Parts: sequence; structure tokens; C-alpha cells
Amino acid sequence: MREIPGAWHRTAAGAGLVGADGSIRPTIFAEMSALAARTGAINLGQGFPDEDGPADVLDAARAAITDGRNQYPPGRGIPELLSAIAEHQQRFYGLMPDPGSEVLVTAGATEALAATLLALIDGPEDEVVVFEPYYDSYAAVVALAGARLVTVPLRWPDFQPDLDELRRAVGDRTRAILVNDPHNPTGAVFSAEVREEVVRLAERHDAVIVTDEVYEHLVFGDAHVPIAGLPGAWDRTLTISSGGKTFSTTGWKVGWVTGPADLVSAVLAVKQFLTYVNASAFQPAIAVGLRLGDEFFRGIADTLRRKRDLLGEGLRAAGFEVSVPAGSYFTVADAQGLGATDAAEFCRSLPERAGVVAIPLTAFTTPERRRQYSTLVRFAACKRTEVLEEAARRLASAR
Ligand code: PMP
Ligand code: GLN
Repeated sequence: MREIPGAWHRTAAGAGLVGADGSIRPTIFAEMSALAARTGAINLGQGFPDEDGPADVLDAARAAITDGRNQYPPGRGIPELLSAIAEHQQRFYGLMPDPGSEVLVTAGATEALAATLLALIDGPEDEVVVFEPYYDSYAAVVALAGARLVTVPLRWPDFQPDLDELRRAVGDRTRAILVNDPHNPTGAVFSAEVREEVVRLAERHDAVIVTDEVYEHLVFGDAHVPIAGLPGAWDRTLTISSGGKTFSTTGWKVGWVTGPADLVSAVLAVKQFLTYVNASAFQPAIAVGLRLGDEFFRGIADTLRRKRDLLGEGLRAAGFEVSVPAGSYFTVADAQGLGATDAAEFCRSLPERAGVVAIPLTAFTTPERRRQYSTLVRFAACKRTEVLEEAARRLASAR
């Protein structure tokens, strides 16, 4: 193979995607979706719904294309979406970002995260604190930006961090504390104590808080609480979300960042040279979605809660131990009872064994802590009821 110099080494290595022979592997989501396609197994791996979202939102995108909204939108996003995001933050959380200066539309939460971390990280001494297991792009982008990833473990079965471990992880080199709540892959919703401690530590060490709240409307108990609304948090917090999960439009890649104007401008400075802009016809459609009535938002959480319960019952009946998630698309199960010792191997064999695809939790961990997660597997509940029922049948018969 040719030697290709460049930062891609750091990105791939940070994401754990370099094989022993130096080759680059696809992300775990691409690998497992390809496995499902190849084997015809039910894909409970990659988190995407198998049904369309609200018709009003889909219709609005079709209308936008017909109406000629097909050229570059403004750099920060179209005014109606900026206003809809600001109104949404006020309606649900009492936050009042100024749509002109404190809101930025991005190409999904993924670009928001990348632009934010690239904007904030200034050199190899900088540290970014994340909870582990973590969404795969976090480690990749921290590595790309050339900073150090510091992780705080979340442990089976409730996946709440130990506050002393959190305190030890944050220091004067911490540039950002990146919190994903509700949490992928564990489904945890962090306690008020955790949220408050994050704010205290960020204040003490002058760090920025970055929150990834893409599952904000998919919570099964109390309403979501954004860290940005806690006393003292707003001025140092960038809140990231996306329309993908809420409106079942993961392929549209319309995300956003809200926060104080100076921090949002720093993200914009980077973002405009990543994608510049995106999704001109989808932006008005997501604006329609964000203005849907409360019953829509209650409905998606109720529906997903029922699916979570169905998936959990199926997994228990098949011999897994199950961690009951408080939010997100995902349920983590322990496959020890089914003889698993290596989650990745277990997931590679699951299509043949049971006709189902899932994701090993080890794909979301650092090599140092991988062993702690070696029998844990993530299943996605965001599939049609009959698909979940069929998956449960298959898993039970493969016992
Ligand atoms: N953050 C988390 C926690 C996710 O699960 C995902 C994937 N859906 C993303 C970010 C990426 O979101 P988007 O598709 O909007 O880029
Ligand atoms: N967020 C989705 C998941 O966790 C996948 C997104 C992706 O494929 N990058 O399953």
C-alpha cells in the first residue's frame, strides 16, 4: 500500500479503525449494516427508523423542492429554521437563544460536533472529557483535532458515572466536557447530580460544556433537562441537536448548535469551511417539524417506550440480561448467559446464529477499558413492532 501522509491517520486511529496491517476499516455502523444486508438478518444495529416520520414534515420538503428552494441557503441557516429552533428551545426548556446570533444550523449533529471540537481545541495539551462508552465520532474528531481524549467510565447496569471519577477526569487542561444525554449507546439519562457536577467542574476549570442532545425527545420518564438551562451554564455551553431522530429523517442531516453568540461564532468560523451550508430544502421541513404540537412529541416518546419494552422482553426471553434504558433508541444487553466472551465476535456470529444484527459495545470504547464491556451488546428499538417481534422470536429460538 502507498504511504499517504495526513491527519487521516489520527482520525482513523482515534476511532480505532486501523487494522493490524495498517488498513482502514469502515465504522461499526457501516460494517454491521453491510452484514445485515449480506445475510438478510434483521438490522437492530445501526440506529435508524424503518418507517417515515410525520407527513407534514415530508410534505414540506417536497414543497420546498417544488418551490425552488434548491440553492445555497444562508450560512447560519434559513431564518425560519433559526426561529423555529429558538422557539423550540423556549417552548420545551425556557431557553431563549437569539435566532440571529445564538443559533447555527449544521449538516447533522455530526458536523456540529466536528466544527465545535475543531473550533475549541487549540493544541495537543488540550483535553476533552467524555463518558465512555461514547458515540464513535467523538474520539475520531478529538484525535483529528490533535487533542487528548479523557474518559469517565459508565458501568453496567445503570451507566451513571461515579462523581469522584468525573472530578478526577476534569482539570485545568480540560478544554471541553462533552456530554451526550440521553446517551448513546447505553440509553442512560444522567441524574441531576451528574448534570450539576458537570457545570461546577466546567466553572472551576474554565472549560466549555458541549452537549449532544439528539435524543432529547426520546425519553421515557421525566422530560429532558438540557444542561444549558442550569444556573451558570448558559455562557459556557454549546447545545447540539438534530432533526434526524425526532422526525425519523436521519438521512437529511439537519442539525444545529445553540449557545452564547461568541461560542456559536467560533463554531460558525469552522463550519463554513467544512460544508459551508447544506440541506436547503430540508431546512424548511425541519422548521415545520419543530413547530408540531405537543401531542407529536409525546407520541414519539410513548411509541418508542413501548418498543423498548417489547425489545427488552424479547431479549430477556432469549437469555440476555437487560439494562432498561431511560431514553434514546438503544437497549444494552449482557450476552454472558449466551456464552459471549467477546462482544464483537458475538455480534459477527449473531446473524448466522439468530438472523439478527446488533452492535458490540466495545466499538464505543478505548482499548484500555474494552474488557469491561466485553459481553455487552447494543440493540436498536427504533424498528416497526412486527420487526421487533420477529427479532424476539428469532433470538429466542437460537438459545
Ligand atoms: N450524536 C449521537 C449520540 C448520535 O447517536 C448520532 C447518530 N444518530 C449523532 C450524534 C449524529 O447525528 P446526525 O445524524 O444528526 O449527524
Ligand atoms: N447514530 C447511529 C447509531 O448510533 C448511527 C449513525 C452512523 O451510522 N454514523 O446507530
